[in-house]
Amino acid sequence: MELLWHRRDRRPTDLAALRTLDDTILPVVVIDPAVEGRLGSRQRPFVGRALEALRGWYRDRGSDLVIRHGSAVEELEALLEETGADGIRYATGYTPARRAQQDAVEERLEATASCDTVLVPPEALVDPTSSTAAAGAPEDRSPYGTYSQFYRAWQRETKPGPVAPPEPDDLVSWKDDQPVPFLEGDHEDGRERANADDDDEVIADLPLPEATHTAARDRLEAFRTNGLETYANTRDDLPAAVKDPTAAVSRLSPYLAVGLLGIRDVWAVVAEAYVDATGDTERNVEKFGSELAWREWAYHQLFVHPDLETEPYKAIPNEIPWRDDPEALEAWTRGETGYPLVDAGMRQLEAEGYIHNRPRQVVASFLTKHVLLDWRLGEAHFRDRLLDYDPATNPASWQWIASTGTDSVAVRIFDPVSQCSKYDPHGQFVRAYVPELAEVPDEAIVEWPTLPAERRHELAPAYPDPIVGRNEGYGRAKAVLEEALER
Ligand SMILES: Cc1cc2nc3c(=O)[nH]c(=O)nc-3n(C[C@H](O)[C@H](O)[C@H](O)COP(=O)(O)OP(=O)(O)OC[C@H]3O[C@@H](n4cnc5c(N)ncnc54)[C@H](O)[C@@H]3O)c2cc1C
Repeated sequence: MELLWHRRDRRPTDLAALRTLDDTILPVVVIDPAVEGRLGSRQRPFVGRALEALRGWYRDRGSDLVIRHGSAVEELEALLEETGADGIRYATGYTPARRAQQDAVEERLEATASCDTVLVPPEALVDPTSSTAAAGAPEDRSPYGTYSQFYRAWQRETKPGPVAPPEPDDLVSWKDDQPVPFLEGDHEDGRERANADDDDEVIADLPLPEATHTAARDRLEAFRTNGLETYANTRDDLPAAVKDPTAAVSRLSPYLAVGLLGIRDVWAVVAEAYVDATGDTERNVEKFGSELAWREWAYHQLFVHPDLETEPYKAIPNEIPWRDDPEALEAWTRGETGYPLVDAGMRQLEAEGYIHNRPRQVVASFLTKHVLLDWRLGEAHFRDRLLDYDPATNPASWQWIASTGTDSVAVRIFDPVSQCSKYDPHGQFVRAYVPELAEVPDEAIVEWPTLPAERRHELAPAYPDPIVGRNEGYGRAKAVLEEALER
């Protein structure tokens, strides 16, 4: 018997750790404050429900999901002793906290790692033109410099197919009495604690998607039949996303982020659709596949730079003089910047724990460029508020937007007015989230930050004035970043 240590893979299907299984397994999850303590306020209850569903799946088959709290290495060691299991199977993690966890386990216990989070193990890809390509530990090797170089190499790699779920005979009969953590009404670590602080309470302050692997598979299937073949055409179409949020884009990110969906399951759908696709359909399917590759690109960056969340990805010649402006940060988080598309995006985040990718880029650019606040502030806010927070994609994307990451454009600045004009010209997306602008004509929504103040007050007296001038913010960001980055 072996222990199947569930980490971010919180599902019974497509578990890479089971690909070479020739023994029975006992599933276990360890709630380690060093790792799970970092869960954001929205993901925490979503993860709780995912674990509850996973436990139910195992119990229906006569086994259980063993739940332990504490340091992973110590809890797993105790469980090996208690059960007589021969070893541990687990999926490799890439954040500093997960690496420290698995390093300790590898050092002390018999453990087998597999690559589960991504299709191509980050260590398999290294820039062959770099001088250090052939030498040293994987972490010392040079990464690809841009997404397109990475993508070309990534496309050539063989992608594994999905892994079948365990059969009842593969599972050890077991009963565990520890409660599932992170369910609403629980304290943060999932156990009742005397004098617990109210701040520790788990509260879902938004409607959560159903946290089961079947709901995730249903979403994938719905997107396969009603979105995949038009994806490139609709992915930036904000009015279409308002009309049917699950047809214009896949909305798979929350399931991928908490591990309710295996990436090989998603890739199998792409690969199958691609086989018979021609012309426009082929282009659409390929575009979706390339977005999955952006996710893999983020893991490549995290693999090479484990401190992606805190340190600039690229060497920066001069320190960037980020501004200190708590009021502007507060206005941004509340969706009260006076920029309609920015505010609609931030209010979508608050209401749904999700932002469509187009406004996601616009709100991030607005914070780091027009307002000139440190990208780490925005990254941390997203970490807390996103249901689909991903420890590689979130910091990699923030750095890309802030020009400290891998963007090939020297200093890219999204103009929130022209972005609104191009992607939401009739203000449908804005009106869906900013009720103060419900009665405002289309062109005034688009041009809002540049309208005379009297006109704005007349049209929507309850909506805030812009916190920074459109041209002032743009010009300041360009000058400051060009100087700091010497670009
Ligand atoms: C500042 C910023 C922060 C972000 N933070 C996150 C995050 O924490 N978690 C997250 O999953 N995505 C993040 N993204 C990327 C992207 O916005 C989301 O993946 C996407 O909007 C999720 O919606 P979807 O599932 O409908 O995506 P679709 O467009 O349907 O794409 C399918 C899948 O491909 C992947 N994907 C799509 N676009 C990207 C991208 N640009 N980079 C990496 N992977 C991508 C995701 O796994 C997504 O679920 C961030 C983007 C920005 C600009």
